[in-house]
Amino acid sequence: NHHIDISGILERLSVKAGHRACSTGAEADKVGGEVNIESVSPVDGMRITSVKQTATEDYDRVVTEATVAFASWRSVPAPQRGEVVRQFGEALRKQKQDLGTLVSYEMGKSLQEGLGEVQEMIDICDFAVGLSRQLYGLTMPSERPNHRMYEQWHPLGVVGIISAFNFPVAVWSWNAAIAWVCGNVCVWKPSEKTPITAAACQTIIARVLAENNLPEGISSLVHGGKSLGERLANDHRIALVSATGSTRMGKSVSTAVASRLGKAILELGGNNAMIISEHADLDIALPAAVFGAVGTAGQRCTSTRRLIIHEAVYEKFKARLVNAYKQLRIGNPLDEHNHVGPLIDRDAVANYEAAIARCQREGGNFVVKGGVLEGDEYGSGCYVRPCIAEVPPDAAIIQTETFAPILYIMKYRSLDEAIRIQNDVPQGLSSAIMTLNLREAEQFLAAGGSDCGIANVNIGTSGAEIGGAFGGEKETGGGRESGSDAWKAYMRRQTNTINYSDKLPLAQGIKFDF
Ligand code: NAD
Repeated sequence: NHHIDISGILERLSVKAGHRACSTGAEADKVGGEVNIESVSPVDGMRITSVKQTATEDYDRVVTEATVAFASWRSVPAPQRGEVVRQFGEALRKQKQDLGTLVSYEMGKSLQEGLGEVQEMIDICDFAVGLSRQLYGLTMPSERPNHRMYEQWHPLGVVGIISAFNFPVAVWSWNAAIAWVCGNVCVWKPSEKTPITAAACQTIIARVLAENNLPEGISSLVHGGKSLGERLANDHRIALVSATGSTRMGKSVSTAVASRLGKAILELGGNNAMIISEHADLDIALPAAVFGAVGTAGQRCTSTRRLIIHEAVYEKFKARLVNAYKQLRIGNPLDEHNHVGPLIDRDAVANYEAAIARCQREGGNFVVKGGVLEGDEYGSGCYVRPCIAEVPPDAAIIQTETFAPILYIMKYRSLDEAIRIQNDVPQGLSSAIMTLNLREAEQFLAAGGSDCGIANVNIGTSGAEIGGAFGGEKETGGGRESGSDAWKAYMRRQTNTINYSDKLPLAQGIKFDF
């Protein structure tokens, strides 16, 4: 049954209409001059509820509270900070069904993916708990006698998190769980398109913090759009800004943060390709390509946008692809029978239509036609048909990321040529090769191969595990989040040298006698 009881879900998640910026005292009454941000579901076009846009003075109060909270949180031993994150993970386990359903309804992704996002939050909490005992620094041999030299990692301060609509909760948790065990406090500005899921998350963490007698300023939430994001980027009190979204946003944030010599992690747009070799197992390549292109209605940063197919298998693979697209069911993402849900809003639909028109002008030939769906089930106006266009590899449209299910396919002859085509875009997030040939796979992964932050063999471009460092090169921004040693970006490194001799030997043998 895909009809959900949204008011029951909001009640169980303790999300109230008119949710405000959060930190201590945030629920205080306000009068006049307030702006509501309404959240409307792309699933059925219904209004979910609203939040209050954070006013400048409230923003300032929240950051001040965060700064105060940092002064105590940074001195809590890291494994104890891990214990708080463990409890947050437990709270998420209990509310997974409701939170996952809300993600699906507010953002429009499938219920399975909504629940999967919450599972990712739980997983990063587990990862962060383990990490809380492993924030290792190195010890180096000193060149001076009776000296010890080592490094340690200290918390940075207030971490600002700007997130995109397409992963409305997981991306925040990737940042926040790691930032917290590292001893930082977080101020989150979610996408103005998905404020309700954010409010639900804030309620959960606020309860965990209260149960541990910790200040809510360890985790704060502010609501607003671009101008609030700009305020955060320019705020010298924010030590690190971790921003996820479009390349346009990233360039603006990067410039603002750099001009005050702050730190930034940028997770921006992708333009991900899959190379399908003549040596590919096409039975694997087909579902990988279709899921990568149409999953989340093409609204993942790792969505497959381009297929670069060897000429020997091109016609055969194209036929299978077209056949697979015919079987796609488009509709309510809460109904498990459907493969493809809506785009986030009507602006996204307009971008999709504009990209199709432009592709045609640039010589694209649609082998599966697109279009906006109409009828009762599609009443929100946000449902579109996934489509496929054959394009010349030098078409300008394929240089840009359109956040919609439009797949570009093209032919290649040699692997060198395929790698050149795949790398010849401004973005560098995810990439994949489908091949059973060892030489091809290794060439793709070597220094002269894929230039992306993620390079896969025999799996698609889309989706990633939290254990690896996530992010991409070039216009994708260069940041890394989540696993591996991505935590180091959330800390400051301090090099310490201790002299336990009764002399003062100088480095490089320098003498200073008097
Ligand atoms: P967007 O850039 O429109 O918005 C992202 C966030 O930035 C929002 O919170 C928005 O309010 C804020 N923002 C917008 N302009 C800003 C500015 N000038 N200064 C400060 N903040 C600003 O992106 P979107 O439409 O929400 O998300 C889709 C984009 O996000 C795609 O390009 C996608 O590839 C990218 N994305 C990347 C990753 C990654 O990890 N690389 C993950 C998810 C999404």
